[in-house]
Amino acid sequence: MLTTRTMAHRIDGKAFAAGIGGEVAKAVHRLRQEYGVTPGLAVVLVGNDPASEVYVRNKARQTVSAGMQSFEHRLEASAGEGEIRALIAGLNADERVHGILVQLPLPAHVDAEAILGAIDPAKDVDGFHPLNVGLTASGQKALVPCTPLGCLMLLRDLHGDLSGRHAVVIGRSNIVGKPMAQLLLRSNCTVTIAHSRSENLPDLCRRADILIAAVGRPEMVKADWVKPGATVIDVGINRIAAGEGKTRLVGDVDFAAVSEVAGAATPVPGGVGPMTIACLLANTLNACCRSLGIPVNADLTP
Ligand code: NAP
Repeated sequence: MLTTRTMAHRIDGKAFAAGIGGEVAKAVHRLRQEYGVTPGLAVVLVGNDPASEVYVRNKARQTVSAGMQSFEHRLEASAGEGEIRALIAGLNADERVHGILVQLPLPAHVDAEAILGAIDPAKDVDGFHPLNVGLTASGQKALVPCTPLGCLMLLRDLHGDLSGRHAVVIGRSNIVGKPMAQLLLRSNCTVTIAHSRSENLPDLCRRADILIAAVGRPEMVKADWVKPGATVIDVGINRIAAGEGKTRLVGDVDFAAVSEVAGAATPVPGGVGPMTIACLLANTLNACCRSLGIPVNADLTP
């Protein structure tokens, strides 16, 4: 007997992010016309990590495309905490700057938590300041970390109400895993958080209606870890060798194999990555509106 196998819906994060970018650009235009203000995003890069260089360039390019001002600040890898703090204090006080992002990772000799804690919480568009972390965790209005916010938007677009669904988040970092779990809980999912000490990970994952992989291990999630019909969101970005001295990007999910089981899945690249930058632009616009005491134009937060 012939059986037909349906492939998972490929979630197009690139197209969705382009839509958000367009909305943000329109709102930025209105803001300039009505209030004479242009939102500004400052990005601080310490050192010359090649991946960070690419991220910072992309962020600056898209900030400018959305009609915002982009301020790039580069410090030597040897920069001390005092020098970075002084730069942040200047940006906190600068009225042209509505959002501040310190590109991670910082060099090992720098206390990243202290640096993130020095950012004015009202300009903390990455949502990593302890005040925004606490507000997010307690379900209050906050600047929410961009990557989990982007994942949530994709899930809402696909499913609408997420109430009652079992979400499994693999990874418990402060940047992705923990805030992702908070946002899903706030959306009335039943949430399981897995990490490197979790036992029977494939079994845990097979119970998920929504599976989020934020691990940093190339193609770790296999097809037999996925419940048929589940939605799989791949946050991972891993560069692997592709022969002849070339490299390519893959996620934490074996996308080709998982697509034969899942109901929907995000590819890498073109899934979560573009959503992160779109949410960064939206957070910057919102921070600007709040600083002016005017209604927020593109509030994406739940
Ligand atoms: P991270 O800080 O290194 O955290 C990784 C998490 O995965 C940790 O909680 C770790 O557990 C867990 N883990 C590691 N190995 C595991 C295993 N074998 N089984 C189960 N759990 C395991 O990484 P991150 O910053 O959250 O980033 C995760 C991935 O997302 C990376 O590939 C990163 O490049 C990518 N990323 C993408 C975007 C985007 O815009 N798309 C944004 C941010 C990050 P323990 O806590 O027990 O160590």
